[in-house]
Amino acid sequence: MSTGPTHAMSGLTAWATVTALASGSAIGNLSAKGWLVGAVMCTGAALLPDLDHPESTVSSTFGPVTQAGSKLVNAISHGTYRLTRTKKDSNRDGGHRGLTHTLVFAIAAAVATTAIIQTSQSWALPVLMFFFSGLAVRGIMHKWCPRNDALWITGTALLLTYACLKWTDQTSADAAACGVAVGIGCIAHYLGDAITEQGCPILWPVPIAWKTWYPVAPPKLLRMRTGGKVEMAVIGPILTAVAVWMSAVALHRTGVLPFLDGVPLTPWAQAG
Ligand SMILES: [Zn+2]
Repeated sequence: MSTGPTHAMSGLTAWATVTALASGSAIGNLSAKGWLVGAVMCTGAALLPDLDHPESTVSSTFGPVTQAGSKLVNAISHGTYRLTRTKKDSNRDGGHRGLTHTLVFAIAAAVATTAIIQTSQSWALPVLMFFFSGLAVRGIMHKWCPRNDALWITGTALLLTYACLKWTDQTSADAAACGVAVGIGCIAHYLGDAITEQGCPILWPVPIAWKTWYPVAPPKLLRMRTGGKVEMAVIGPILTAVAVWMSAVALHRTGVLPFLDGVPLTPWAQAG
């Protein structure tokens, strides 16, 4: 599952599902505004790992800026692969589907996001919101021409950031929740990559079958082709339906969707 829209939707679906199901915890009791900020960040973060590929669509998000960043990430990823691979690991480049496709990276990204927002809500949150909403727009609008549309993406991301922050008033964003959102977005990306042909080295550096970069993947039967019929006709619509449903559950809990009062949104809760 490597097309932009599916990755982006998987991020939103993951955020909505985790927040809807975690009703007893801090992450399940965010304000509607906090939830929205998390949703934008998680959707964008679901594209973040592919910044390790200078030719990927997401690397062209902010034109030369993200392309330069992507080259740097690719070089670091390549170096890390070379340094830590065993004889059993394949002799591949390791720049793409390397370091940014591991749980270690997801955790580091989550911690870094939390730390950055904790330092300053007034400048750090808008900057990160702008960055992640740009990735989200780039992922969803994958048909927009990568070369010419960096300005469009930048403009749309600015508007989205402005609208979010205007509404949230910059007061209720929970730094830890933003970090968790980024971590969840990355993990949603890994799961999407794992069900395609190559698998994803999620568990690096834990050695499995003498490989530190073991490509985690389900049995062949359950894998699919990137951009193929299964992704477009089955996975995409299912993710969208779950995203809408779980977002309704999570947002209803915050009190912003009063017209859903009495609708059995969570049959499992009533059954128990
Ligand atoms: Zn990927």
